[in-house]
Amino acid sequence: MIPMVDLKAQYRQIKVEVEQGLQQVLEEAHFILGPNVQAFEQEAAEYLGAKHAISCASGTDALHLALAAAGIKAGDEVITSPFTFIATAEAICYLGAKPVFVDIDPHTFNIDIEQIEPAITANTRAILPVHLFGQPVNMEPLLAIAQKHRLKVIEDCAQSFGAEIGGRRTGTFGDAGCFSFFPSKNLGCFGDGGMITTQSDEMAGKLRVLRNHGSKQRYHHSVIGYNSRLDEMQAVILRAKLKRITAYNEGRRAAAHIYTRQLSGVPGITPPREDGRGTHVYHQYTLLTDNRDTIMQALGDAQISCAIYYPIPLHRQEVFAQQYRDVPLPVSESVAERCLSLPIYPELESEQIHTIVDVIKTHAPG
Ligand SMILES: *Cc1c(COP(=O)(O)O)cnc(C)c1O
Repeated sequence: MIPMVDLKAQYRQIKVEVEQGLQQVLEEAHFILGPNVQAFEQEAAEYLGAKHAISCASGTDALHLALAAAGIKAGDEVITSPFTFIATAEAICYLGAKPVFVDIDPHTFNIDIEQIEPAITANTRAILPVHLFGQPVNMEPLLAIAQKHRLKVIEDCAQSFGAEIGGRRTGTFGDAGCFSFFPSKNLGCFGDGGMITTQSDEMAGKLRVLRNHGSKQRYHHSVIGYNSRLDEMQAVILRAKLKRITAYNEGRRAAAHIYTRQLSGVPGITPPREDGRGTHVYHQYTLLTDNRDTIMQALGDAQISCAIYYPIPLHRQEVFAQQYRDVPLPVSESVAERCLSLPIYPELESEQIHTIVDVIKTHAPG
C-alpha cells in the first residue's frame, strides 16, 4: 500500500524530540500563547524572511483574520482562483464580501494574471492568489496590478510553505501570507493550526488583537475579535518539523523530478510543469490525463493511493453555482476533469515511484 502522504514515517524521525517537548508542556502547564508558540512564531518568521508571524487556529482562520485586518467588509469584491480548496472562498464570504473567480493558467493551475485586470470593478478591494500545489504565483505582475488599482494582496500559502520566487519566500510579497498547518501540508502539525505573515507592524498588531478576543491587554477589548490561537502542543511539533523543512521540501522536489522524468513523453499524460521562475515545493504532484478513470482504477488495484485535487472548481460548487451560472471558466473546468494527484511526500522512495509510473504507463491511452 502506497499512501498519498506518510505521516507515520515522518513521526518516527522526530518522535523523541516531540515527546520530550510535549512532556515539558504538560509539566509547565502554560497552554495558551505559551513559550513554544512565541518561539515558533519567531523561528517561522525568520525562516520565511517575514517581519512578523502571527499564529492562529487554522489556515481558514488565517485567511479570515488577514482579510479582516486588511479591512475587507460586506459588499467588497475579492479576486481569486476557482481552482483551490473551498476555504479560500469561505474566508471571503465570512466577511460578507464576494469572491470573484477568474480562470487559471493551464500549465501552472495558478490564477491567470492576464485575467485579473479585466475583472476589477469599483467594488474590488483585494486579490487573493493561491500558490497552488506549492508552485508560487508569478507575483511581480500581480503586485503591479494591485498597486495600480490600490488593492490589498492576501496570499494563500496553505500549500506553499518554503516555496520561493526570486529568492523570496511566499507569504512575504503581499499585505499578508496565510499558512495552514493541517497535518498533510508541507509543514503540518498533529491537528489544526495556521499562521499569518506580514511585513507591516500595523497589520501584525491588528492580527494579534483579532486572534485573541479583540484584546491587547487582558480583559480590555477594543474590537470584536475571535478565539483563534495555535495550541502550545502543536507549536512543539511545528518547531521540530520546521528545523527539517528544507530537507522535507527537497525530498518532495526530488520525488517530483523522478516522476516527471519517467512520465515525460508518455502518451496521454501531461506531467506538472514548473514555470521556471521559482521553487515549486510540490505539496501535490498533479498531472493531466484524458484516461483518468482507467488509471485511477489500475492504481487502486495495485494498492496505490491517488486523489483528484480538485474535482469541482469553486464556481461550480453547489454553494456558488447559482451565483456564477453565467460565468464560464473553461480552463478550470477542463483541468478539474483531467487532473490526477499522485502520492508525494519526502520519504517516498524512488522504487515506489517506479512502481507507480509503471502502472500509469501500462494504462495510458497510447
Ligand atoms: C488547506 C488549505 C486551506 C485551509 O487550511 P485549514 O488549515 O485546513 O483551515 C486554505 N487554502 C488552501 C489552498 C488549502 O490547501
